Amino acid sequence: MRVIIIGPPGSGKSTQADLFSQYFQIPHISTGDMFREAFKTGTILGKKAKEHQTSGGLVPDELTIEIVLERLNQPDCSKGFLLDGFPRNVAQAYALDKILQSMPGKLDGVINIEVDDEILLERITNRRVCSQCGETYHLTYYPPKQEDICNLCGGKIYQRSDDTIEIARSRIIVYHEQTKPLIDYYRSQGLLIEVNGDQDIHKVLRDIIKGVCNDS
Ligand code: AMP
Repeated sequence: MRVIIIGPPGSGKSTQADLFSQYFQIPHISTGDMFREAFKTGTILGKKAKEHQTSGGLVPDELTIEIVLERLNQPDCSKGFLLDGFPRNVAQAYALDKILQSMPGKLDGVINIEVDDEILLERITNRRVCSQCGETYHLTYYPPKQEDICNLCGGKIYQRSDDTIEIARSRIIVYHEQTKPLIDYYRSQGLLIEVNGDQDIHKVLRDIIKGVCNDS
């Protein structure tokens, strides 16, 4: 199973990617998570990426393509993977095409999760994340039982620095300008699976699985 998941920030793509990769037992590769992890561990890549993340812009293609190439060459990706948040523009999609040509197997589908901009803004600014296990909360619909403490592991809950209203707006603009063209790119190859992301989490997952299994 080789799948890409794209969608605007706040569309729930990472939550769905987690559930999907557990279901199919494949690695979940999130470029956003890889950059955040690199920043936490203090690498040069992490510092460079952080400069772009804090403005809501994209990390330069050379850096991003390089870390994806390295990750896809690891043995656990030989039987499949789910790419979350990559590619994010047409140049990255071309680079991925090249990488995949050198690997066995084909791409099974590209899931696009659609959600209206106003809903995205509401979701992003109310989002909080556990610094230890990554569990994601919504202050109204899924608040932690104890303020700032994760229900699952007791870790500290924080707001991502790019989840403020101003940066969230910039990220949505970047999505419309740079990532949305990928929808036509993958539709023209017959790979696109469109899913309504404004539904119950489990219904979205069912739609995704149905779409991928019908297409592959
Ligand atoms: P995400 O966790 O997917 O919402 O990504 C958070 C941020 O990481 C984005 O706003 C970008 O700054 C950066 N990022 C993640 N994936 C990519 C990518 N494929 N290309 C460039 N920047 C990325």
